[in-house]
Amino acid sequence: MAIKHTGVSYYGLNYAEHAEQDFEEMVQHGCDTVILAITEFDMDFWFPNIESIVQCAHKVGLRVLADLWGIGKYFGGEPVSLFLQNNIHHRQVSAFTGEVLPNVCFNTNSFRDYFKDLCLKLAKNTSVDGFFWDEPHYALPKSYASITGGAGDDWACRCPECMEKFKRYYGYEMPRIMNSDVKQFRWREALTTLSETSKALKEYNPDLEITCCVHATINTYYVTEQRGYDNWDMVAACPYFDVFASTIINWELPESFFRDVTERTVAMARKYGKESERWLMGYNKRPEDWKQIDRIVDLYENLGVDRLSTWTYRGGYGTSVAAPDPLQLWDHIGENYRRVMSRSGAAR
Ligand SMILES: [Zn+2]
Repeated sequence: MAIKHTGVSYYGLNYAEHAEQDFEEMVQHGCDTVILAITEFDMDFWFPNIESIVQCAHKVGLRVLADLWGIGKYFGGEPVSLFLQNNIHHRQVSAFTGEVLPNVCFNTNSFRDYFKDLCLKLAKNTSVDGFFWDEPHYALPKSYASITGGAGDDWACRCPECMEKFKRYYGYEMPRIMNSDVKQFRWREALTTLSETSKALKEYNPDLEITCCVHATINTYYVTEQRGYDNWDMVAACPYFDVFASTIINWELPESFFRDVTERTVAMARKYGKESERWLMGYNKRPEDWKQIDRIVDLYENLGVDRLSTWTYRGGYGTSVAAPDPLQLWDHIGENYRRVMSRSGAAR
């Protein structure tokens, strides 16, 4: 068992010559993949520069994955959304209160077209190696057993478009209480959004690699997070995904969580013939003991994880979500990346 790829996310999409220096630093930190966190603003304003930046990454030997970061507040992340700014419709609606939420309804044709067009624009005009679906989720609750947040009962989306679609399929009005039809509807529609765009990308270029990264949830018989992608069997079975990943776990959580989530991630990926990926928290928090990073990386490797990734370059240095001692955190992650890549014989 060996780690095949080591990635890190990156925000700097402004000047290629600056990005190139950062990419060299990533290589020195044992990375072989950079995940470009591309915002809707970047796609609109900085688009002419993106291909130059992708080429710089390739020049230093990095694979490049595009992450449409925070788009519509559908994927995870802090960026503001141009879609929400430019459209007053197509938003998610709270089931319990009927309030319109500041999150796109990704089950609408309007957003699905927008998302697909942005991805195809990148595929056609740049030489990215693939795409990364970053924590796609419905707005609202994380439920009782959430590793990543607090409890909640309300859910979305009960917008007019979802309600009409639900009634057409099930023959009765979408209820406010989540029943099994609602769960099935939410899973199916959520996956359709990603599947349709993934299929279009693969049809354009079958070599584009697609990773789907879902929230790291407990998913037991009694509790799930209900964010729409918590039925891991359904997600991992999607024929257009190459890699099944689960997200970051806070360093402060017990190692039993790391083990549980990782065992289930690897098992799910293997069941459907995908590679597995686990993430490291390289922003926001640092482990109290730096050696925890070594232990978790060893755990991931021993449990058969294929790929490691870290959010984000330089521990989030200079941002509002920087870890304490961000540069040291980045260096410790880099040491681990070099360690596992030298074992796999892939180190440069
Ligand atoms: Zn909706």
